[in-house]
Amino acid sequence: MKSKIEDGESATEPLRPLPPPPTLPPPPSSSSSSVPPNPPSSSPEPADALVPVKVWLPVSTASFFPFYSAVPQRAIDLQSNFICQASTLLRFAALKDSQENQDVARVSLLKSIAAKQACMWKLVYPSSPLHTLSDSHYRIAARLNLGLPPHRVAFSYTCSSCKSSTALRNDRWHHLSCISHRRREVTHRHDAVLNVLYAFVRAAGGVAVKEPAGLSAKDGKRPDLQIIFPSRHIITDVCISHPLAPSYLGKAKDLEAATANGAAAVKVRKYVEVSTTQQASFIPFAAESTGGLSPEAIELLKQIALASNDHLRLDPAQARQGAMQAAVAIAIQRGNAMCMFAGMSRALRAAGWMEKV
Ligand SMILES: [Zn+2]
Repeated sequence: MKSKIEDGESATEPLRPLPPPPTLPPPPSSSSSSVPPNPPSSSPEPADALVPVKVWLPVSTASFFPFYSAVPQRAIDLQSNFICQASTLLRFAALKDSQENQDVARVSLLKSIAAKQACMWKLVYPSSPLHTLSDSHYRIAARLNLGLPPHRVAFSYTCSSCKSSTALRNDRWHHLSCISHRRREVTHRHDAVLNVLYAFVRAAGGVAVKEPAGLSAKDGKRPDLQIIFPSRHIITDVCISHPLAPSYLGKAKDLEAATANGAAAVKVRKYVEVSTTQQASFIPFAAESTGGLSPEAIELLKQIALASNDHLRLDPAQARQGAMQAAVAIAIQRGNAMCMFAGMSRALRAAGWMEKV
């Protein structure tokens, strides 16, 4: 399967909306003595909590039959709830083990892949080119998610791009943050995400301007995107950081989406004058290479989806937001693969494994 998203290409074709997430049935009455109470599901669990269960399951084998006798409709989700609980417990056990062994890289990985929207690329239906990962891109995404080396073949520790002799010894995914790649493939990944936002704003009936000039009264700052809807004026700037880069590990191990949140705060400070001058809302779009989004990025997607209601779209705003989140997730993973393949290509050529033409 091939995806046709390329930099600069705007997607104008209609997108099939993702189905809304399933809704859980209402919790049982607390007055029912036969059904054990369910755990709260709204607040995030601490990292060392071993029972972060957010699914509707009996709390013990003894309560299994009373539980489903009281609310038989919940048996429909029994299988998926079991899988969800098992995977959640496994992740928390791995996190606790990594923390005890002071494995900072592993802790950072487990934290970053648990950030909001980090799992979206795995859930996307490949229903359109915007929502499709090729097999080779999917392999790179899966290996990053699992903490594996990017390729089966081990290359030299020297980065053929920035010439650092120890870059790949310290970080096998160095090409996602290589300073030499920042002006090439890393920028292309940024532009791919920006193009997704641009395309969806236009499809929603809004006006989108890339790198608008003249917004700042002081200097020549040019944010990535100016978005104008009949009732909203938004300025945004896109930033995609790699939380597993050695320089970010100290921050990423403490909090989910920590590097994205930090980047969003930097962007807000940078563009406060522009947003004040233009009387516009500045909403940064900060994401991580592992897929996580900052709360502001999710809010921006929500704002675009809601604003498109003014354009008399028939599909619900929730579906449009889901389609945007899916397209962003795929664009990030495609960009990651592009960075890694470019680094591998240069390494192969430098090693003489590829003929120079
Ligand atoms: Zn490098």
